[in-house]
Amino acid sequence: MGFLREWRRKRTLKNARLDEDLWRRVYGRLSFLRGLSDDEAARLRDLVVLFLAEKEMHGAHGFELTDEIRLAIATQACLPILNLGLSVYDGWVGIIVYPGQFRVVKEEVDEDGVVHVYEDDQAGEAWPGGPVVLSWEDVGLSGAGYNVVIHEFAHKIHLDGPGDDDFPDPGEGMDAKKWRDTLDAAYDRFCAEVDSGRPVLVDDYAAEHPSEFFAVMSEAFFTDSAVLARDYPALYEQLAEFYRQDPAGRLPAKVRAERAAKRAANRTKDRA
Ligand SMILES: [Zn+2]
Repeated sequence: MGFLREWRRKRTLKNARLDEDLWRRVYGRLSFLRGLSDDEAARLRDLVVLFLAEKEMHGAHGFELTDEIRLAIATQACLPILNLGLSVYDGWVGIIVYPGQFRVVKEEVDEDGVVHVYEDDQAGEAWPGGPVVLSWEDVGLSGAGYNVVIHEFAHKIHLDGPGDDDFPDPGEGMDAKKWRDTLDAAYDRFCAEVDSGRPVLVDDYAAEHPSEFFAVMSEAFFTDSAVLARDYPALYEQLAEFYRQDPAGRLPAKVRAERAAKRAANRTKDRA
């Protein structure tokens, strides 16, 4: 990171005026953040401040963006890069927010080489080197295993970083073959589960393409981590290495630490 940029970021953090009540409210509503330690929460907050300073968020179709909307989107966008750093999102600035789903024109080439043009409603979109587009209505529908912000920013990490059409390259120090084999095997298994008609862990949209599988499983990784770790342990482990986070492990660890602190406090009280 350049010296000038580092200096600018330090200054941004020093001068930032983040509404603490609003931050607590937005943070508290995102239940999948409750396992973060105080240190992680503080680092996430800093990332969010820098993200808001460096990116430009615009409402489309006359949609007015409140501070709460900006903060909610930034917080979810920054969770995947908590331990990767903001530089992963370098090279683009725009986030466009529609009030609801938006219509896009799509082109598809079939097996005979015929191009089909059609319109489709989208909850989100990510352009390589370009903007992220989100439907605020769909951001609000987020729940366990479904999170349109994390989905689109997982695409951003994939599209703007090293990798091929299917998957991003593994992170530094990871076993490249293990990463690829695990993702391929998990994708094949998921597609077979969808074909069998049995209920599946996440939206069956994930079977559309390996890149969608990566984005949808990233949603599950952050927002339904314990279930993903149970059902797809090898995939979970690889994603934990990729994102350098262990969402399924940190909540139990935090609860254990809090219980231990309470016990220690009680012991002190008993002696007093
Ligand atoms: Zn997608």
